[in-house]
Amino acid sequence: MLDARRKKLARSRLSTYPRHVRFGKPASTALMLAAFTAAVHVSAGPPATRTRAALAPAIALSLGAPNDGRLLAGSHLEPSSVIRVIPAFANADFRWGLPALVRLLERVALRVSQKHPGSIMSVGDISRRAGGGIREHLSHQSGRDADIGFYVSDPAGAQLLQPRFIDFDANGTSREVPAARFDDARNWALVEALVADREAKVEFIFVSAALRSRLIREALRQRAPASVRMRAAGVMRDPAPSTSHTDHFHVRIMCPGDQPRACEPHPRKRSGSLPSQRQAPARRH
Ligand SMILES: [Zn+2]
Repeated sequence: MLDARRKKLARSRLSTYPRHVRFGKPASTALMLAAFTAAVHVSAGPPATRTRAALAPAIALSLGAPNDGRLLAGSHLEPSSVIRVIPAFANADFRWGLPALVRLLERVALRVSQKHPGSIMSVGDISRRAGGGIREHLSHQSGRDADIGFYVSDPAGAQLLQPRFIDFDANGTSREVPAARFDDARNWALVEALVADREAKVEFIFVSAALRSRLIREALRQRAPASVRMRAAGVMRDPAPSTSHTDHFHVRIMCPGDQPRACEPHPRKRSGSLPSQRQAPARRH
């Protein structure tokens, strides 16, 4: 019953968006955006001319695909006592995402800090305010992707806050910063919180195979529930041909359930995309 009511509410909300957004499977993201922009434009006119769509409260939309999409009415992630923006990413404000993603990041940062008091989660890029391409990234276009720096500690276990992402090898050490350690306990607490979250569904956590193994070993050491370990093992992936996930987690959430036609779950395939990725190894997911 509750489910039926939710579906009805979702349908009515989505019906306030242009037809291309609702049913426009063949429509391009640009066309969908143009239709939406036209509706918003109407809302700027005198009240008598406003349409039903323009009067409706905006809900956030992930339009198109992670690598060819837009974000509408997204939320902004704010720094807090448990979240900081990594200085290397602070100049550009790419901290916008679907509310489901932003709230997830806030919840997991809090959960890690409750388990390991004083811990601060380090965030890199999410999306632009309106989504779309970011030069350094292959995705991050539709508000469903976020980069999170690893929790790093010194040999005594105190958290180290780095000004940028740093690489870690299979031993959990870094050639870039010899005193730094990949903090297995805090990083597992983060992954556990991400996969155990009941409100947002994590689709992938991109991380190198060597660090994934460390995290699964840590989960076993902590005797984490088998269901959580299996879910974590399923979503942690090392996406070829990228090699950048030795220095951060890339988290992607699934499309929200109430926008199945607007949000495309998978990246679009482009002819020649692999060669261009090889020519641009600096671009990360
Ligand atoms: Zn990323």
